[in-house]
Amino acid sequence: MTTPDPALFRQGKSLVIAIDGPSGSGKSSVSRETARRLHAAYLDTGAMYRAVTWHCLDRGLDLADAAAVESAAKAVTIELSTDPDVESVRVDGVDVTEAIREPRVSTAVSAVATTLGARAELVRRQRQQIVDSGRRIVAEGRDITTVVAPEAEVRILLTASEEARLRRRGEQLEGTQSAEQLRRQVTHRDKLDSAVVNFSQAADGVVTIDSSELDYEQTVSAVLTTIFGVAH
Ligand code: C5P
Repeated sequence: MTTPDPALFRQGKSLVIAIDGPSGSGKSSVSRETARRLHAAYLDTGAMYRAVTWHCLDRGLDLADAAAVESAAKAVTIELSTDPDVESVRVDGVDVTEAIREPRVSTAVSAVATTLGARAELVRRQRQQIVDSGRRIVAEGRDITTVVAPEAEVRILLTASEEARLRRRGEQLEGTQSAEQLRRQVTHRDKLDSAVVNFSQAADGVVTIDSSELDYEQTVSAVLTTIFGVAH
């Protein structure tokens, strides 16, 4: 196990870790574990897009109506746990932790994510969460390295082959969805999302980690090694 530079843990030192990647790259579980090991907060920005999507569906809004989606994104209260040990999302006080993972939300979320006004609002909230954490946070999503926190001390693009991503998502969902539903969720969603954000190529200064041949532990190690190598 790589030994962290003790300077990383100095009080008051900013340590923002930005991790982007496509669906099924292992980003969420690896980012959460990285946050635990660094005693940092954890920000799942995808959960915020999902929360707004759940809210729009709950209200019966037309997701093609950009103005309606934007004002819903601005008006809704989202309480998202940033404790890596506590998974909790509330929308206007309603616990939606499980509901935002349902296929109906996964299928609709790109419509919200490609509504630029809604994105701007969520990016603003995400930056605020980073400030609120005291800048000790692992934030993951699709545009963290490039838009939300390009100034982060460490920026990582976590990739994996399509085959590895489909396999992982399939295992996560434990056969609750057909192969076609799964493919639609993973590859089709990435295609839609990439209309507004680029998460398939690393921007300048962003370290790429390909996890196709790595298991979970090895991926966490690769991320920690990168962090200890880059941040000092
Ligand atoms: O990470 P997760 O798969 O939960 O993200 C759900 C969706 O949220 C993505 O498919 C994408 O549409 C959107 N998203 C985004 N930008 C982010 C994080 C997520 O557009 N930073």
